Amino acid sequence: MDIIALKASATDKDIRHVVKRLESMGFKANISKGTERTVIGVIGDTSKITEEEGNAFEAMPCVEKVLRIIQPFKLASRNFKPEATVIKVGKHAIGGKKIQVIAGPCAVENREILLKTAKEVKAAGAAFIRGGAFKPRTSPYAFQGLGEEGLAHLAYVREKTGMPVVTEIMDPRDIDVILKYTDIIQIGARNMQNFRLLQEVGSYDKPVLLKRGLSATIKELLMAAEYIMSRGNHKVILCERGIRTFETETRNTLDLSAVPVLKGLSHLPVVVDPSHGVGKWRLVAPMAKAAVAAGADGLIIEVHVRPDEALSDGEQSLKPEKFKALMTELKAVAKAVGREI
Ligand code: PEP
Ligand code: MN
Repeated sequence: MDIIALKASATDKDIRHVVKRLESMGFKANISKGTERTVIGVIGDTSKITEEEGNAFEAMPCVEKVLRIIQPFKLASRNFKPEATVIKVGKHAIGGKKIQVIAGPCAVENREILLKTAKEVKAAGAAFIRGGAFKPRTSPYAFQGLGEEGLAHLAYVREKTGMPVVTEIMDPRDIDVILKYTDIIQIGARNMQNFRLLQEVGSYDKPVLLKRGLSATIKELLMAAEYIMSRGNHKVILCERGIRTFETETRNTLDLSAVPVLKGLSHLPVVVDPSHGVGKWRLVAPMAKAAVAAGADGLIIEVHVRPDEALSDGEQSLKPEKFKALMTELKAVAKAVGREI
């Protein structure tokens, strides 16, 4: 039910006008006359009211405010599906009691380093290997990733370790090659509102890790998820990875309040990326622990065997031994909030 609050000056004629308009759209009106003002409750499936139609009510001179109770995102919303979504990937489940950890280098650099890193993070408790083959670099002169060769390295590592692969797609034209090699498709922050790309990944039955845009609101993130889901793919994992603020000490500001907010608004699993959230390896562990305490269903963490030689994001990458120590610390935090890791 949506609510239309009328101005104190609204007359009976105004009320009748609003009610008539609602009835002409197939809704019933519940009129509540207070001492100060009248509030009209809209009864019926108000999710069918478009944003434009809602705005048209707000534009009426007698209307103070229109409150949409049903969110503009529907398939992603908890109103629509109250129980939490658990996404199965191989023998792993994302969104259940177990907190899943995705770890690996920012970019796939070569097969040996990737395999070594995968073995280390797996031994420490990570279930998934991450690594970009198509990298969204700020500079066109920076390392852009190995492309399909990088994807083949990921597939090789999956075969050797059994770890499912998470890798980023940047262009709908790469969908076939990405589908061939990956278990979870990552949509990066810079592409969160690349609607054609969202529609493309929405057309396949492959889980999608959707990262929050650099300056995207939580609602925009959920609308991006809605783009994917509206095409039929409901296997969407939301990812908080830090947003742009005025703060410069950290690369981004990791918005951990987004975790409980998202969990309240949506049934989809929420993963936190503390690496891009802070941009400095020393800050990754405390924020990873805070993310688990805040209710995250998973973590995605950059790990590199030689961060000083990394071709991208070395400054925020953990060495395997630091990652291992973090995984041990996370166990206690997970237990404290009724989860396991
Ligand atoms: C990444 O995961 O390496 C990455 C590029 O992340 P983001 O899109 O969040 O910047
Ligand atoms: Mn990175």
